[in-house]
Amino acid sequence: MTNLADQIVAAVRHVAGPAPAALHEPVFAGHEIKYLSECIETGWVSSVGRFVDRFEQQLAEYTGARHAIAVVNGTAALHAALLAVGVEAGSEVLVPALTFIGTVNPIVYCGARPHFIESSCDTLGVDPDALGRYLADIAVVSDGVCRNRLTGARMSALLPVHIFGHPIDMDALNEVAARFSLPVVEDAAEAIGSYDRGRHAGTLGAVGTLSFNGNKTITTGGGGAILTNDATLAGRIKHLSTTARVPHRWQFLHDMVGYNYRLPNINAALGCAQLEQLDGFIACKRRLTDLYTASFEKIPGLKLIREPKGTKSNYWLQSIMLDQQNATERDAILEALNDAGYAARPVWRLMSTMPMFEGCPRMPLTVTEDIERRVISLPSGAGLIS
Ligand SMILES: *Cc1c(COP(=O)(O)O)cnc(C)c1O
Repeated sequence: MTNLADQIVAAVRHVAGPAPAALHEPVFAGHEIKYLSECIETGWVSSVGRFVDRFEQQLAEYTGARHAIAVVNGTAALHAALLAVGVEAGSEVLVPALTFIGTVNPIVYCGARPHFIESSCDTLGVDPDALGRYLADIAVVSDGVCRNRLTGARMSALLPVHIFGHPIDMDALNEVAARFSLPVVEDAAEAIGSYDRGRHAGTLGAVGTLSFNGNKTITTGGGGAILTNDATLAGRIKHLSTTARVPHRWQFLHDMVGYNYRLPNINAALGCAQLEQLDGFIACKRRLTDLYTASFEKIPGLKLIREPKGTKSNYWLQSIMLDQQNATERDAILEALNDAGYAARPVWRLMSTMPMFEGCPRMPLTVTEDIERRVISLPSGAGLIS
């Protein structure tokens, strides 16, 4: 019997083919060159142009959101979204400790503080029950304002994340948020093409955000978008992300300090071409999940992470969860995979342990810490199989 690391390398090779294999490579197999050439030929390369409007329309159609606003990246999308729902300096934003740094930095851009919350083993995202019990303990709501009894600060938003594209139970979470008067901003950066009982991720809170970075399911080079069904919020976000310029044919009047966050036309052109291929990418990624599942079924002591019940995941990153007793093997497995040419990585280091967030408030993070020790992400790009 070979050791666990060797068995895992063999299982990955069986699915991903001969090394090397990157963690998540983009696939450009559609109209990318045609649309990009059109930008160059017409001169429309920057922040105005027909692809920006078209990309926004197609995103709204695809996700079912009433409004989609395209911006320069997923981090900027979250910054604009948090400002739009009223996150203010000195307040706290509830956010999982288990996420990418791009979820948390925008909280600080608003002058607010992250308040770290617990995740669930089933979804890898926020645990609504644990959060409800915690808030019942520490939160006081009066006149629609939620405060942290321990710090005295206002809690101005709840920022859940759909980790690796697996949708969390937004009905349960929205119920907790309503009980404590918290607006919900959904970080769906990893979840384009993911659904909770038929409803697209990122459309179930007040506002949701997407990312189109090079390693995401579809890419615009760099890019992001904000989704909302609320026309007032959409207007505010568009205004904030386009330097807060008051529309006029020639005058330059700006009525507040805004941001230069608009997505350029060349990036949107790439986005239009990628969006046309999205369903095909997801079909490939779901097939990859079935192959990995079959390959790992033969290995005791771990399992491939599958979409939560009632949801359809885009399976952005294929990941395994080691059984508790194998957690100590994680780094040896990562070494073996990377030595063999397969780009595997652990889940992010917890945000609550980053030097700049060490003093931030947090609830007990027992499950989160356990997940961190046991998860390994594997080569996941749609191009690995066709
Ligand atoms: C990628 C990502 C972001 C940030 O997106 P960028 O486009 O890289 O700025 C935010 N949150 C999560 C969970 C992400 O995976």
